[in-house]
Amino acid sequence: MTIHNTDLVIVGAGPAGLFSVFEAGMLKIKSHVIDTLEIIGGQCLALYPEKPIYDIPAHPKILASELIEMLEVQAAPFHPIYHLNQCVEKISRNSDGTFVVETSKNTKINCKAIVVAAGCGAFGPNRPPLAGLEEFEGKSVFYAVRNKAEFAGKNVVIAGGGDSAVDWAIGLSEIAKKIYVVHRRDKFRCAPESADKMKKLAENGKIELVIPFQLDGLEGNGGKLSHVMVKDFDGNIKKLSADYLLPFFGLAMELGPIANWGLNLEKNHIAVDPTTMQTSEKGIYAIGDIATYKNKLKLILTGFAEAATAAHDIYKIVHPNQIFHFEYSTSKGITS
Ligand SMILES: Cc1cc2nc3c(=O)[nH]c(=O)nc-3n(C[C@H](O)[C@H](O)[C@H](O)COP(=O)(O)OP(=O)(O)OC[C@H]3O[C@@H](n4cnc5c(N)ncnc54)[C@H](O)[C@@H]3O)c2cc1C
Repeated sequence: MTIHNTDLVIVGAGPAGLFSVFEAGMLKIKSHVIDTLEIIGGQCLALYPEKPIYDIPAHPKILASELIEMLEVQAAPFHPIYHLNQCVEKISRNSDGTFVVETSKNTKINCKAIVVAAGCGAFGPNRPPLAGLEEFEGKSVFYAVRNKAEFAGKNVVIAGGGDSAVDWAIGLSEIAKKIYVVHRRDKFRCAPESADKMKKLAENGKIELVIPFQLDGLEGNGGKLSHVMVKDFDGNIKKLSADYLLPFFGLAMELGPIANWGLNLEKNHIAVDPTTMQTSEKGIYAIGDIATYKNKLKLILTGFAEAATAAHDIYKIVHPNQIFHFEYSTSKGITS
């Protein structure tokens, strides 16, 4: 077991959690960040890294992956410690009011305050029920596109009928050798203009629509895929030559252990006082998508402002004997 001591533990390394590191750091509050995923970035990196975001102030257009890169750089002077690939399972309070945070990998962190920036809870992709799937996951089966270039000149099978499936079919058709789109029915749950665009590409032979079919099996060796088997409703099997499979069946999001931390919840969100972002438990704060209050807007920019609000309230806990003097970053500069 590894034991750490710090001022603040941030649960969740999405945009809100990452900006919390910066806001806390500016107030001389040191932080550790924990995330279930093996990468930082939350929904931005896990779900839409290559999509442009248009409503980040002062960035008329920025790719989700670029935003996360910049947030990491902005947080770096404060030397956050990231504990990735592990889920925060337990939070307990010591008699002096401090906390112990415990993760699924037996990491224990003693801290004075906690910011829960856990988005929609620990989330993971809906995985297709295919035999031997684990062998291929992370090697030739991916639930998100992190690096478009990887698919250049390859045979890619995309499964699903929503926005992600259709958008990536269109996006990757520019560089892939061949794209197969496997879907149970002829109707797609996506923007109609995207469906039209994909069908045009199918007419030109860049995309093959494999409809109405469902995934049935995988073939390959050592995690390297060679074929994806699909089955129609009459049991007919087709074998698609494939280097990669991208199943886009949406996300399963669940609060998971957060539901057991004794916090006031409202419809799977954590209720907070929006003037401080404190939850029903003193010293535990919630920000970003997971936090709720009247008229809450689930936007990245909201999470940023909430991170600042929470950090200023946490200052009193971490530096109880110091009088707080508000200063702009332009006066203070960055001192870690
Ligand atoms: C396709 C798409 C497009 C979007 N476009 C925009 C847009 O244009 N503009 C905009 O403002 N917003 C957009 N959003 C919404 C935006 O991504 C979210 O508002 C934002 O990601 C919320 O940030 P967050 O830090 O609160 O949570 P998240 O990004 O959800 O990150 C939370 C992190 O917490 C981790 N976590 C959860 N529970 C635990 C636990 N127990 N232990 C450890 N880790 C845990 C999760 O693994 C996750 O990485 C979009 C969302 C999607 C899906």
